[in-house]
Amino acid sequence: MISKYSDQKKVIKEDEIQEAALEIKKGNLVLFPTETVYGIGANALDEDAVKKIFVAKGRAQDNPLIVHIANIKMIEDIVMDIGTLERKLMTKFWPGPLTIILKRKSKEIIPNIVTANLDTVGIRMPSNRIAQKLIETAGVPIAAPSANVSGKPSGTKVEDIITELDGKVEYILDGGFTDIGLESTVIKVEGNKINILRPGKITKEQLEEVAQDVKIDKHVLAKVEKNEIVTSPGMKYRHYAPNTKSIMIYSQEKEKMIEKINEVIRKMQQENKKVLVVGRESNLQSYQTKRKWNMGETLEEVAKNIFTLLRKVDKEQVDLVVLEGVGEQGLGLAITNRLIRACAYNYIII
Ligand code: AMP
Ligand code: MG
Repeated sequence: MISKYSDQKKVIKEDEIQEAALEIKKGNLVLFPTETVYGIGANALDEDAVKKIFVAKGRAQDNPLIVHIANIKMIEDIVMDIGTLERKLMTKFWPGPLTIILKRKSKEIIPNIVTANLDTVGIRMPSNRIAQKLIETAGVPIAAPSANVSGKPSGTKVEDIITELDGKVEYILDGGFTDIGLESTVIKVEGNKINILRPGKITKEQLEEVAQDVKIDKHVLAKVEKNEIVTSPGMKYRHYAPNTKSIMIYSQEKEKMIEKINEVIRKMQQENKKVLVVGRESNLQSYQTKRKWNMGETLEEVAKNIFTLLRKVDKEQVDLVVLEGVGEQGLGLAITNRLIRACAYNYIII
């Protein structure tokens, strides 16, 4: 097994891309960066190769994978009936962090394992240069879920995932810390409407520039109840959650939020319990605990940092982690979606 890894931000050399692309063509797995998070990639047209992804991640077979393409031509063999609105979205947001669910052409081309037997397939054209070159050089679309063992936060840098994934992939392309830090926005067009199945960097507000009717799927913020039908299988699964008990606390009024968090801290301290607060840089000084972590100040910074922070909280050995909420405006919706799931729907919004 060839495993290239360094803990410095790397410039990937041309021959490394060639080597990695060869592994894809041979039916092996490659860990590679995209602008959102790292992906574990396999040739999307090769059923046996894609099976290896599910084994490496311990991913449920009914959770479909996103197919990554390098150019529009690649899509033609895979999907049919691309509508006007879908074409507009591709023109505006590709390459970039938007996955569009489209009708798949035939199971002979994209195997059932990729789509979890659905008649649709999620397609994305990443803008990250390493990802683009890898797909281009391999000459095939690459099926890739986020790089993490299922249930854990997605990998945004190789250092965070090397232990859980080393030995499970044939090649690692280390492109340093990913730019965005959250997975792509996943949407499905229904008539003139856009349905957001998973929020991401491309926001509802940006999608509204293309379509008047943009809806956020109910399960973006609400828990999936037993036996409930979902529009995107990934919604059903436990994700991002540390083992330590966590709670998200949010109020539009900052002072109220800080007061509530301090109240929770006091209550825990009275019971001799330890609390870690993960909050915005400018709020940290207001918390009456010595354990506090900076999640960044802007929404972009929070998006980029949140998975790497969530991966570390268990090491702190505290009794409770309090995550500051960020609201639902713009990129806030995507962050809130991840935070709510990280704390297993244990949250207070006041
Ligand atoms: P991940 O690969 O871990 O980034 O997750 C991919 C997400 O895309 C999951 O939430 C899937 O449920 C969703 N997805 C992929 N393909 C489809 C599809 N054909 N229909 C609906 N959701 C999909
Ligand atoms: Mg994932």
